[in-house]
Amino acid sequence: MINVKYLVYGSEYDILENASIVIENGVIKEVEERKNGGQNYSASIALPGIINAHVHFLDSIAKEACIGYNLPEYVGSKGIKHVLIRLLGLRNIDIYRGIIENELLVFSGISDFLEEYSYCTLLKNLFSEYHIVYKPYTRPHNINDLDELVLVANKCGSLGIANPLRLNKWSLDELARISYKYPVAAHVSETKRQEKLGSLTYLIDHGVKLNHVVHGVYLEDWEFKLLVENDVVLVTCPRSNLWFQGKLPNYSKAYRLGVKIGVGTDNMGCFSTDIWRDIEIVYSILHSNNPRIKPNHIFRDIVKNSLQVMATNKLSWKIEEGETANILLLNMDRFNIIKSFDKIGSIIKRASTAVSSYRVLGSKVIKAY
Ligand SMILES: [Zn+2]
Repeated sequence: MINVKYLVYGSEYDILENASIVIENGVIKEVEERKNGGQNYSASIALPGIINAHVHFLDSIAKEACIGYNLPEYVGSKGIKHVLIRLLGLRNIDIYRGIIENELLVFSGISDFLEEYSYCTLLKNLFSEYHIVYKPYTRPHNINDLDELVLVANKCGSLGIANPLRLNKWSLDELARISYKYPVAAHVSETKRQEKLGSLTYLIDHGVKLNHVVHGVYLEDWEFKLLVENDVVLVTCPRSNLWFQGKLPNYSKAYRLGVKIGVGTDNMGCFSTDIWRDIEIVYSILHSNNPRIKPNHIFRDIVKNSLQVMATNKLSWKIEEGETANILLLNMDRFNIIKSFDKIGSIIKRASTAVSSYRVLGSKVIKAY
């Protein structure tokens, strides 16, 4: 049993005060008014465990290597980050353990656009030591090598296409086939050029079933509708888009049309993993358009949609009886919301990953800082 000051409860993300969560065999058995006994986290807020729906983990070894370069110079196929990953990262893979401990313990799940597929199993194992569910959306070295495409899908279990426009007709057909067995994702419409060339329709028209797309900065209304029709999550990385494009996707339009929006922090070499900063940007834009919009629902939708990106049944998006325990505790010594008029509003606007204290996943309690 875990006792907390506040609890974000159920599918509506309502706030309960002075609550106890009874967990049995990793499943939430009961949520009730605070009782005696159990473990006391009475200066804590319990919220559903959060997912980072898009990172590039490997470039975390070269912080701020993005400064001084535009997007193609930094991430393009001949971009500087790939050189740095080979030079500094892959030759010294142990460094990544420290990076998980410093930057990622707060997350229950990480969706990684992994540049080097041969590391997918190693990283899955590494992350599981920290009780983090790890999803490698990765790709072959040569995107038009059909054998390699199939091999990567079978080995890593999911595919992430960095630049869909590079696929030829044959690999598109193969990718379409694979996409009914394994989740497939792609960067789309991050730049004006990608939008003009139609990176989203290029995939969908060829029958590729997409789990999610990333960025969509320049997507238009009819493309948002296409995402809704095909149940594709739009993962947004607002700080990355501001940095490289000086522009954000049209969140208000997307939200109104019913697009499922998830949130990620993108390149770890260029952006901190403090996902609250990104969630706040999305919420700010939505609020500017409709001040009546409810922060608990925005937050809930982001958690839920980001979980869809993980394509896993190991995690739950809500704290409720019968669900697998997936809980993040924020420490109120460093983040006090007692007098807040809207507690979830305060979490979105004021929390940082630095105020996390513990995570509960199944029957495990894990340090999250
Ligand atoms: Zn990316």
